[in-house]
Amino acid sequence: MTSSRHAVVVGAGIVGICTAIELRRHGLAVTVLDRLEPGQGCSFGNAGILAAHAVVPIGLPGAGGQLPRMLIDAESPLALRWGSLPRTLPWLMRMRRESTPARVQEIADAMRALYRSTLELHRALAQEAGVPELVLPTPGLYVHRSPQGIDLEQGLAWRLRRERGAHIEVLEGAALRQAEPALSPEYTRGVRMGPMGCTVNPLRLVQAYAALLVRMGGQVRRVEVSRVQVNHSRPREGGGITVHTSAGPVPADAAVVAAGAWSAELLKPLGLSLPLIAERGYHVTFADPGLRLNHVVTEIEAHFACTSMEVGLRVAGTEELGSPDDAPRWRRAEVLQRQARRLFPAARLEQASRWMGPRPGLPDSLPAIGAVPGHPSVYVAAGHGHLGLTGAPHTGQLVAGLVVGKPPALSLDVYAPGRFSG
Ligand SMILES: Cc1cc2nc3c(=O)[nH]c(=O)nc-3n(C[C@H](O)[C@H](O)[C@H](O)COP(=O)(O)OP(=O)(O)OC[C@H]3O[C@@H](n4cnc5c(N)ncnc54)[C@H](O)[C@@H]3O)c2cc1C
Repeated sequence: MTSSRHAVVVGAGIVGICTAIELRRHGLAVTVLDRLEPGQGCSFGNAGILAAHAVVPIGLPGAGGQLPRMLIDAESPLALRWGSLPRTLPWLMRMRRESTPARVQEIADAMRALYRSTLELHRALAQEAGVPELVLPTPGLYVHRSPQGIDLEQGLAWRLRRERGAHIEVLEGAALRQAEPALSPEYTRGVRMGPMGCTVNPLRLVQAYAALLVRMGGQVRRVEVSRVQVNHSRPREGGGITVHTSAGPVPADAAVVAAGAWSAELLKPLGLSLPLIAERGYHVTFADPGLRLNHVVTEIEAHFACTSMEVGLRVAGTEELGSPDDAPRWRRAEVLQRQARRLFPAARLEQASRWMGPRPGLPDSLPAIGAVPGHPSVYVAAGHGHLGLTGAPHTGQLVAGLVVGKPPALSLDVYAPGRFSG
């Protein structure tokens, strides 16, 4: 497959690599640029959940009420850093504006449209990449220590999911024990939800997809990108982009910025101000827990998820708003470790590795997918927040379609990169 058109993708995370694969399928010559090896950014250590039913934005009506607690409680799953308040406060105000009941319904529909196909798309890609064992259909189990903490009738999050077709089953007492025997007896009620899936190794998945891209004829280069330049003297529809890198300029006909939480800096010189923040999350992975879960287990109150992976039991969570390159605060990982011991008291949760990753977050919990206003050959594929692994294959298809001028199967207005301007 050859083409005279060359597309450059900035970012070798799950979103950039999936986008590059789809561009290659359309016959473009494709180069992915990243300062690190594929999958070493936020895609390295996520919880692995392929959340086909994900329809709940982080900003629900009333979410602003939690702010005072975030500022004073070091163990809260949501955290602000005092030093980054000038950056986070405008973001939180915007999130609040996006949290009206009507807007939340709209966002939930947009999330459903983007994420519902995740399991099928990842299974097909993993098969093609020669790693079918990395993607498994796995139901979710949501638990709360207080039985009243799960209100399927009144709780808005549950209503949004139910109204959009999630399969929900309440498990109590013995049924819950049987479903997940390692769970602490403190938990007496849970909700099983599907359909969904997980990857048992997010890093190996990105690496396998990157290897597939190379087999398809794409290139992956390890360089730092300093600027994406549009040369207006060249015709708008053909050529005219120079991507400046630590190894010199790379000419292209189209560029896709898929640089995760770092994307805004590259887009600003093009006149696009994307209110992207790092929603920093942490994981603790226990190498030899002595248990294998039947579900991805989510603790609702403490906001963390537990996934059995090939590398052990991963416990992942926390939302610390700030900048992607701030030093990790390992106290957050220690909190996760303690909470996991409480959830699975009989497990061997000692030998652990820990990690922090910056989720690329936009205030309406939707990614930016589309062309940069005024620059029709530069595209954005960034800002998937908690759901980048889930949304990467579909995003890749949509962006590649835009680059080759194929009309998208769904309206992309709701994901437009310029939607926060004005
Ligand atoms: C604790 C935690 C749990 C999570 N759990 C899940 C989950 O279960 N399911 C799910 O769907 N999602 C989950 N996520 C979210 C998911 O991991 C992210 O949304 C996703 O990894 C984002 O992918 P990306 O490709 O956009 O960004 P990244 O993976 O961060 O990739 C961006 C790449 O761009 C490169 N880059 C940036 N700037 C430059 C530059 N100037 N020059 C060169 N290279 C550059 C970086 O080096 C990086 O490799 C979780 C995240 C965290 C932190």
